[in-house]
Amino acid sequence: MRDIIIIGSGPAGFTAAIYAARAQLNPLLIASSVEIGGELMNTTEVENYPGFPEGIMGPDLMTNFQQQAERFGTEVVYDDVVELELDGPVKRVKLGNGGVEEARTVVYATGSAYRKLGLPEEEVLSGHGLSWCATCDGFFFRQKTIAVVGGGDSAMEEATFLTRFADKVYVIHRRDTLKASKIMQQRAFDNEKIEFIWNAEIAAIHGTDAVTGVTLRDTVNGEERGLDLDGLFVAIGNDPRTHLVHGKLDLTAEGTIAVDGRSSRTSIAGVFAAGDVIDPNYRQAITAAGTGAAAALDAEHYLAALDASDDEEAAPVAAPELAGVAAE
Ligand SMILES: Cc1cc2nc3c(=O)[nH]c(=O)nc-3n(C[C@H](O)[C@H](O)[C@H](O)COP(=O)(O)OP(=O)(O)OC[C@H]3O[C@@H](n4cnc5c(N)ncnc54)[C@H](O)[C@@H]3O)c2cc1C
Repeated sequence: MRDIIIIGSGPAGFTAAIYAARAQLNPLLIASSVEIGGELMNTTEVENYPGFPEGIMGPDLMTNFQQQAERFGTEVVYDDVVELELDGPVKRVKLGNGGVEEARTVVYATGSAYRKLGLPEEEVLSGHGLSWCATCDGFFFRQKTIAVVGGGDSAMEEATFLTRFADKVYVIHRRDTLKASKIMQQRAFDNEKIEFIWNAEIAAIHGTDAVTGVTLRDTVNGEERGLDLDGLFVAIGNDPRTHLVHGKLDLTAEGTIAVDGRSSRTSIAGVFAAGDVIDPNYRQAITAAGTGAAAALDAEHYLAALDASDDEEAAPVAAPELAGVAAE
């Protein structure tokens, strides 16, 4: 049986693997069958990951992560986890190919998925003027005209933040009222650079190499019109990838996996979680990597305590009591 299995191949998973491998825990990392490398595979230039003063392409950064993890002995499997048995001292991880891997600890780092508009152009233009992250990409839109899609708090926050860079920010919303909190709404209404386009949805995104505009469809009368843009930010929500642990691990009110304070310890002893799947706030590569490191260190300490308790025939290490929403 292995000491540790890491699920997910984004910054959190690979960082956990680097730390676990260097601690001689011989990690097995399940990378997924299609989305190896995580969210940064969908972007171009990453300018805010420390250590790369000239910036680095997202896929190149993730290749570096993987090479560094493999250099210290991480074994990478290109398959999906389809089922988990997490209770008890032996954790069982079932793969898409039917195989089952066993370990004393699991690090769950499956990330979260930004909701998409569902348009075919999204795949092509992601990282080319189409973004889901103002913190990541706002800097590229200095003195530009851009739009934010959405009507919640995150859309208002992104739009307000983007006015630091852009000359003009449209907020496109499918209704004539916002879901955002009053204070966030007011902040956006008061901002001279923000203009609201009500009762409108995006019917198409224009551009071949980069976003040049959109077709707006009126949600009341169905009429369509064009809008020239240099960039489009989609802020219609984010779903932590927790479906494999529903009913098993405690979740927070935001739907992320609940962890014990600043640690990565979940509601089941020996199961640790890291990255965007535990993070409703920051969702950055550097923060995901940071919690990935914490997860490997927590797993290492847990295994050491388990070995010590085996020696002393004492009780096994207990799971923490979490303040999150209990698993159903
Ligand atoms: C377009 C875009 C651009 C971005 N740009 C930046 C940027 O410039 N700077 C920055 O700091 N952040 C950026 N981000 C945010 C950053 O990518 C995320 O915060 C970070 O990738 C989160 O890391 P993670 O390891 O938690 O999850 P992810 O990167 O999402 O990785 C999770 C991994 O788990 C895998 N997985 C999921 N389910 C399973 C399963 N059942 N079995 C096996 N594997 C599974 C997924 O396939 C994926 O590989 C960007 C995000 C997007 C979408």
